[in-house]
Formats: sequence, C-alpha cells, structure tokens
Amino acid sequence: MSTPSSTDSAEAYATWIAPQASLVVLQPTTLCNLDCSYCYLPFRKKRLEMSVEVTQAVADSLAEQQPGHVTEVCWHGGEPLAIGPEKLAALMAPFEELRRAGRVRHSLQTNATLINEPWCDLFIGYDVAVGVSIDGPADLNAERVDWAGRPAFDRIVTGIGKLVERQIRFSLIAVVGEGIGRAADLLDFLTGLGPTSIGLNIEELEGVNTSRSQPAPERARAFWEAVFAWSAQHPGVEVRELDRLAHYLRTIRGGERESWEAHRYDPLPTVAVNGDVVLLSPELAGIRDEYYGDFLAGNVVTEPLSEILAAAHRLPYVSEFLDGLAACRETCAFFDFCRGAQAGNRYFENGSFDSTETNYCRASKQELVRALAGITNTTGISSSTRSMEEAT
Ligand code: SF4
Repeated sequence: MSTPSSTDSAEAYATWIAPQASLVVLQPTTLCNLDCSYCYLPFRKKRLEMSVEVTQAVADSLAEQQPGHVTEVCWHGGEPLAIGPEKLAALMAPFEELRRAGRVRHSLQTNATLINEPWCDLFIGYDVAVGVSIDGPADLNAERVDWAGRPAFDRIVTGIGKLVERQIRFSLIAVVGEGIGRAADLLDFLTGLGPTSIGLNIEELEGVNTSRSQPAPERARAFWEAVFAWSAQHPGVEVRELDRLAHYLRTIRGGERESWEAHRYDPLPTVAVNGDVVLLSPELAGIRDEYYGDFLAGNVVTEPLSEILAAAHRLPYVSEFLDGLAACRETCAFFDFCRGAQAGNRYFENGSFDSTETNYCRASKQELVRALAGITNTTGISSSTRSMEEAT
C-alpha cells in the first residue's frame, strides 16, 4: 500500500476519475426480502430506510452539476421495492424537476418478487429503467431463497410477468455460478422472458460473500465461447458483455482511439440510508476494515457531493486504486479494452486497491477477450486486436 503526496494524488485523480458523477447509487433501504446465498450485503436483514432529507440533499448536489450533464440515479438496496411504492415516490420527488429537465434519469435493480400494479404505475410514471436479477431457470436459481429458505423463482417470474403485461421494458442480470457450463440453456431461458438486454456476472467475491469458489479461467473462457456461439445464432439479443467488447472494437476500428482512451472512471458515489457516501464500489458500503476504516468519503446531508468528490483523492483507498489503475496500464495486455476493472473486487479478493489482477477480471474481461479472439496463450489484446476485429 503506497502513500503518495496530496498533490500527486490530486493529479492522478484528475487523470483517471471523472470530475462529475454520471451514476449515483442510492440505497433506499438496507432490507431485502430474500436471502440469496451469495449476497454481499451486510445489513440485508435490517430495515433501515432513507429519508427525504437525504434524497433532497442528493438532488441539490446534482442540480449543481453542469446543466448538460445527465446523471443516472440507481436505486439499489437491499431490495429497493421492500420500501413500498409510496415511500419510494416520496424519495424520488426531490429529483422531479431535474428528471423533467432531462438531467436525471432513474434506474432500479430488483429481485422482482414484490412487483405489483402500484409498482408498475411508479415505473411508468417516473420512467424508471428496471433491471431484474434472475440467475436462470429454476435449478440455476436455487440459491435465491427467502428468509424461510423457500425458493424465490416462481415469485421472480411472476413479477417479470407483470412487467411484460404492462409493457414495461426491463433488462436482466444473471449471476453465473452453476450455469457456467450451460450458457445456451441459460440464454434461451433469459431471452424467453422478454428483456431488452442480458447481463452475465460470473460469480464474484464481494462484501460478506467471501467464501465461494471461483471458476477456473478455462471454464470462464469456455463459457464465453459458448455465449459467442449462441449470440451468433441470436443476433437480435443484446448481451451486455459482448456489446461492450463490440463497442470497443468499433471505436478502435473507427479510428477513435483517443476518445476511448479519454474515457475516465466514474467516481460512482453510493449513498447509504443515512446519507453516508462511499466511492468507486457500492460493495464497500457498510464494510469496516482495520486499515481503511469505513471507506466513508463524507455525508451528503452535511456537504454537497461536489465537495466530497473534490476531496476524494485524499482517501487512502481512492489513491491506492489510482495506483492500481496505473499498474494495470503498465503491466496488463488487456488494459486497452478493460481500462482497469472494479475497485471492490481488488479489495475483496486481494485485500488492497493497488493490486491488479483479480479472479473477476480474469473471468469477465481477459477470458471474454480470449474467447472472442480464439486465443489460447497470453499474448493479450494489444497484439490480438486485428484477429478480434476479424472475428466480429
Ligand atoms: S484485466 Fe485485470 S489486470 Fe488487466 S487491466 Fe483489467 S483489471 Fe487490470
């Protein structure tokens, strides 16, 4: 763990991290009605709820951002629907002027089990982009149970059915555990639910979920190869990870490398129920560490987000993460595409933020690229861009 000077850190921060947030994660409640075995949330059994004072403070901060800047406000619990539609509407009210002006848009990540007509009304009324977590057909979804241990699968599918009935567009995110050997089954099932896009998260070590086994790189590569093969047969279905890689290749191929490289990491403020803010990774909220403390960058009720972000380079975990990004750029053949992944994974897997490789980046970035390029050695993306371009 390094200790750079404040000036060095400020310069590095400005180089790597965007000055304004494009995504703010809000945790309206700590409570979740499910008890998925891989969940990383430490307080998911407790009902602590956000107040309008907190969301008013966030809205005031976003109003200070440049007028042309659009911020996604992502409601992500706990289970955000556990708070009830009236309470969430009250929490959203302070953002209405910004939303109507096109400066804020809402998204929400849910397990779908509580979706009913009032929720559908809210999604439509506030133009919420809904993301649903489901891990596949019933047997692949077996780790998702309620607090009594009952499978949640039927309730998730019923909730999704209500979205379909009301013609509310939604995306799906699946945590890929046992499904890593069944890519086609998984994608057939998810596509049948009618989403606008599918995200595939190979299971990670995060938060309090630190005891799970991780897939070997070869299994991850075989999974991505199967996803590519499936995708070639289903060209109308958007798979998020493949789209990101295709976007990278199109950008480079189009001679826009400069714009790709100019892209900076979002500071990704996550606001807890009481207004406390952590940066870079929502998974750090509510975590305590002997060295890093509680990862808090400030509290939006007592200081605006702009001031919190302006001082962020002084936080040891933030400045270490910048060192980690620089180390990725120096050492990793996949940096060109990856741009240095996830602070949370570095911490939870490696115990520090200035480390580089994680199981997450190996499985979800490196093996994704190798699968597309048909690479079976470690020559990496820089030397393989041409073959990837040919493959797409
Ligand atoms: S693949 Fe891993 S080591 Fe390489 S740039 Fe991304 S995060 Fe860093």
